[in-house]
Amino acid sequence: MKMDTAFHMAKAESESSYSNNSRLQRKALLETKQVLEKAVKEICSSVLPPKLVVADLGCSSGENTLIFVSQAINAMSDSQQMEVQFFLNDLPENDFNYIFRSLGNFKESIAAEHKGGTPPPFYIAGLPGSYYTRLFPSQSVHLFHSSYCLHWRSRLPDGLDVDAKPYLNKGNIYIAKTTTLSVVKLYQELFETDLLLFLKLRHEELVSGGQMVLTFLGRKNEDVYKGDLNHLCGLLAQSVQSLVHKGLVQEEKLDAFNLPVYGPSVDEVMAVVRKSELFNVSSRLFGSNWDPYDDSGDRVVQDSFQSGLNVAKSIRAVMEPLFASHFGGAMLDELFREYARNVAKHLQREKTMYSVIVLFLQRR
Ligand code: SAH
Repeated sequence: MKMDTAFHMAKAESESSYSNNSRLQRKALLETKQVLEKAVKEICSSVLPPKLVVADLGCSSGENTLIFVSQAINAMSDSQQMEVQFFLNDLPENDFNYIFRSLGNFKESIAAEHKGGTPPPFYIAGLPGSYYTRLFPSQSVHLFHSSYCLHWRSRLPDGLDVDAKPYLNKGNIYIAKTTTLSVVKLYQELFETDLLLFLKLRHEELVSGGQMVLTFLGRKNEDVYKGDLNHLCGLLAQSVQSLVHKGLVQEEKLDAFNLPVYGPSVDEVMAVVRKSELFNVSSRLFGSNWDPYDDSGDRVVQDSFQSGLNVAKSIRAVMEPLFASHFGGAMLDELFREYARNVAKHLQREKTMYSVIVLFLQRR
């Protein structure tokens, strides 16, 4: 699987697009607003650059992309007039043109928000490429931000790719009850390799004292089999299995498919950051209901049927291109109908949350 070409969110302006189905990720941006503000303010006052360089890694395309930009601009506005250059990064298949087309309106809305005052002069550029490669010249960036991205791996663990036989994770698409410990280890090793590489590259690109705010899916439970992502992907695998039983998908196709994700525990993440010896770090973990439209803090699912549909839509917007490139587009509608039913049944028994990790890192 080539992440650079096969991976992107469902494209803009359709009913199932990421742009129309990213409320879950938007909630995380609102949840981390204060951490971001603090980072921007600290940099403005301590680094004292003539201009600020800020990059959002895995920016995607849609409303969320520019929420981050406006949060950063708003955090700066009461400091001295400092120019700011934003780089919006994602993989080359990302719909950058959608972002570029919305910049005119965005600039107007920023000017309107700052009526009476003047927002800092800002410039926005798109930057295609994987953040598992160097993206910037040495010591040129003050702040990196990334939200809902770093649970994605740079590739599939060796041995789990389509062409690898015998199939090591038969019937599953991520770590499930029947996944062997050796496959779990492959996922964990790749997670560590990816994160160490990411930290090393960003350390090279950050100025001294530069900062990072990183938000991504993780696991509350130390048990690697018991994360919320395992649960969610388990229900997705179960839905593909139903399609196999109905003769709509070949069993071999399912056996050859695995997801390039990993949801780490906070301890796993902190161990890797400490091993790198490159950053001072603090972390927090918060919960976010599976149903992006459920903002309640209680344990009650009001309408599990509707919640099932909402979860299926939000997962489809993220996973559709990966499933389409492996299984073909014809199975998608039936897959996500089945998935909505499975999620609804699950939520009737138990309300479930994603565990979201927020890291705040300062370059040593
Ligand atoms: N930050 C956005 C998007 C989150 S979706 C938001 O909060 O809504 C995750 C994004 O990460 C996708 O757009 C995906 O293409 C991007 N991504 C995944 N792996 C990447 C990589 N190696 N390099 C750059 N972007 C990546």
